[in-house]
Amino acid sequence: MLHINNISFSYKNTPVLDHIAFALEKGRHLSIMGESGSGKSTLLKAIYGLLDLDSGEIFWDKQQVLGPSFNLVPGEKYMRYVAQDFDLMPYTSVAENIGEFLSVFEQENHKRRITELLEVIELVDFADVKVKNLSGGQQQRVALARALAQEPEVLLLDEPFSSIDQFKKNQLRHSLFPYLKEKGITVINATHDPNDVLSFADDMLVLKDGKTIAYNSIEALYQKPKEKYVASLFGQVNELPISLLKEYTEVDASILIYPHEFEISKESGFEVYVVNNHFKGGYYVIEGVAENSQTVFFTNPNTLKIHARVYLNVSLQLVNRRISIKK
Ligand code: ADP
Ligand code: MG
Repeated sequence: MLHINNISFSYKNTPVLDHIAFALEKGRHLSIMGESGSGKSTLLKAIYGLLDLDSGEIFWDKQQVLGPSFNLVPGEKYMRYVAQDFDLMPYTSVAENIGEFLSVFEQENHKRRITELLEVIELVDFADVKVKNLSGGQQQRVALARALAQEPEVLLLDEPFSSIDQFKKNQLRHSLFPYLKEKGITVINATHDPNDVLSFADDMLVLKDGKTIAYNSIEALYQKPKEKYVASLFGQVNELPISLLKEYTEVDASILIYPHEFEISKESGFEVYVVNNHFKGGYYVIEGVAENSQTVFFTNPNTLKIHARVYLNVSLQLVNRRISIKK
């Protein structure tokens, strides 16, 4: 188990991590999500032992992760950290960059291991190409393979697909994440791309201004996001104000609804006027405006006429699940 026990960290006098606490079981995949500057990279660095904490502790089983004041060589051996800036040897080949990190006990099946890792990062045909001649995205993949060559128990990835184009990204996710699961590697992946999270991670930790605002399974956070910030990490979301009766008094409440969750009716429901159609491939996201001039996004298989009046409905079950009462 990885235990993060109430850690806090500041750069000079600016607090960046504020009492972060969670535990992660071996072999689980955790995504750390949050807007830019929320502290994702700093949290990964803290877990890897690159920072001296203000307070709190980090344990991998019984081993404590210590910061640079306690460790001559920062970074724990059983962990690997793939930073946003990959530190490769530019004048040597892709295969050599990876091979350098294979353990000496693996000399015999050296070639087989390099090929296996080249397959995971889908660069088999580039084995003999010098790293300096690769694109940024390809270099990022080599950095990933180097980390895997060292067979870490814990793999920390900082925006691992940030330099990789959309087309390759999807393929890579499908080869990398199942490989990591199969090897039983515990993964913590910092990202702001929901595609890195949905269907690849088990759990999600949401950071905002260095604080944990949510930690749960992906499904739980998607189905019952505590606030709009959490729901927006999955994509577009609507926050609709509603008022309801509670002990005979009217109270203000709101519900979070993803665009595909509305049912459209011509007769009754929440009234909106169509102002725009956004093509999304297999469907359209329709932009509507409600009477209170709030913009609402909902999906439809076809375009709708501009200025058309439609009524949006959501199931009672969904309302009950998503309702949040303003204090
Ligand atoms: P994220 O990865 O979520 O974008 P970071 O962990 O990189 O966030 O940064 C969190 C906060 O810490 C930001 O406000 C950033 O400006 C600040 N910060 C990051 N690195 C340093 C540094 N080396 N020195 C001072 N402040 C830093
Ligand atoms: Mg970052």
